[in-house]
Amino acid sequence: MSDRMSVSVVIPVYNEKDNLPELLERTLKACRGLGRPWELVFVDDGSRDGSSDILAEAARAHAGEVKAVLLYRNCGQHNAILCGFGAAQGDILVTLDADLQNPPEEIGKLVATIDEGFDVVGSVRQDRQDALFRKVFSGAVNLMVRRTTGVRLHDYGCMLRAYRRRVVEAMLECKERHTFIPVLANLFAKRVTEVPVSHAERARGTSKYSVLTLVNLQFDLLTCMTAAPLRIVTWVGICISALSIGFGALLLVLRLVYGPEWAAAGVFTLFAILFFFIGAQFVAFGLMGEYIGRIHADVRERPRYIVDRVVGETLGERRGAHESGHATAHAARSSGN
Ligand code: UDP
Ligand code: MG
Repeated sequence: MSDRMSVSVVIPVYNEKDNLPELLERTLKACRGLGRPWELVFVDDGSRDGSSDILAEAARAHAGEVKAVLLYRNCGQHNAILCGFGAAQGDILVTLDADLQNPPEEIGKLVATIDEGFDVVGSVRQDRQDALFRKVFSGAVNLMVRRTTGVRLHDYGCMLRAYRRRVVEAMLECKERHTFIPVLANLFAKRVTEVPVSHAERARGTSKYSVLTLVNLQFDLLTCMTAAPLRIVTWVGICISALSIGFGALLLVLRLVYGPEWAAAGVFTLFAILFFFIGAQFVAFGLMGEYIGRIHADVRERPRYIVDRVVGETLGERRGAHESGHATAHAARSSGN
């Protein structure tokens, strides 16, 4: 039994108090059915609704099975997951959301697929239970990611995923502060696949993402993946310049043909065209700003997260008692805002 790869299930939690009892019960049941060593690592992302107390209590009640890493304040879902990866010890790492949208019962299927030799197993939500605008938005993002990475996955937004330790360790080496884990993982994986999983409505509470934070997250996704948008902007600039040279020549010819009165009447057209170019420049500057902002954040090397405390020891704590020190040390050299 123990020659089978061990599993760490990492769950980020942010103000999910009402979901935790059911989540804990169902996830424990799913893990116990795996037939191999496992641990459950909860990362409390600075909740203010008492979730951290519930998690600390769960770690005490299920000693040896559940670990709770309590972050000092909110630092974002992806940073929380990276923190959980740092504290987890399994050979296979599985992530899922705490709001029960990802059924814990699917963990076994992901683990079995890793066993087949894959490095990363994503999942495709069947009959996704989210607002229409979220689905349309995701569809566009998934298409964009497929085009730019060339990795044929269908659902980057679904966080019910499994990774081999090798891939996770490479991700932990990454110093960037704004990141999108499913896309990052593809950089280091040789064999990637996805399996269909069921999807439920959020059990209780509300989504932690507003439209604005979602848009920010998409910028993280885009910039963590490729510099292609910058190149596109350059090309658009070149095309616009070429067109405007032609347009200038045309105006000159028309001026010569129709005389000076015509030129004065054309002033408004010129304004319209000017505004278009000004708009295009702002888009280009904005996009560059997105990259520069991220470079700035990376140069500062602020900690990604600050661990308040770690409750519970799991999987025999292979790396020994300094595990919580490890998480904090990681915090000291990595960062986020
Ligand atoms: N989450 C987190 N930190 C945050 C925001 C979210 O740890 O700053 C967790 C949240 O508790 C949940 C998961 O990330 O377990 C996904 O969040 P949510 O369900 O709100 O996102 P949605 O399903 O609306 O995309
Ligand atoms: Mg959700």
